[in-house]
Amino acid sequence: MTYLGLGSNQGDRQFLLEQAIALIAVQVGSVVKCSSFIETEPWGFASDHKFLNAVVAVETTLTPHRLLDATQRIERQLGRRHKTINGQYADRPIDIDVLLIDDHIIRRPRLTIPHPLLLEREFVWRPLLEIAPDVIHPVFDIPVAQLVKMKKEE
Ligand code: AMP
Repeated sequence: MTYLGLGSNQGDRQFLLEQAIALIAVQVGSVVKCSSFIETEPWGFASDHKFLNAVVAVETTLTPHRLLDATQRIERQLGRRHKTINGQYADRPIDIDVLLIDDHIIRRPRLTIPHPLLLEREFVWRPLLEIAPDVIHPVFDIPVAQLVKMKKEE
């Protein structure tokens, strides 16, 4: 199973997340589960615009890099123009992160799987655990839920 993290803090956020999920279903593969949409504060940059975040589980036959091509194409289709402004995070209509792809571990210039900030960002792990409470982190080979608990106790 592949897990994708979605976020939007610009425009009609709910509509943009729903559009992203519809495009994922067409261009990536069947969307098996979708978390609730949660409102969160911007992370890594200052903005007055809160995010709406969600995680979806997708079954796909795309290779990891073709999957990233597809998610980046969907970001552009939904109006995303730039990744960052002067190297800084900025408001965006849609952001799609590839969180996990089965038990793959990938460290390539364009693609790191599992997503390196998966455990740092509550807006990612919370909706992920809502739809996949037993999911295993392939690097540590233990459940994501257990890693999150350990991090909280640090
Ligand atoms: P962002 O601003 O978060 O959308 O960053 C996207 C950039 O991160 C792109 O240049 C991707 O090639 C790169 N990237 C590396 N690993 C991942 C991943 N797991 N999911 C999405 N983008 C990734």
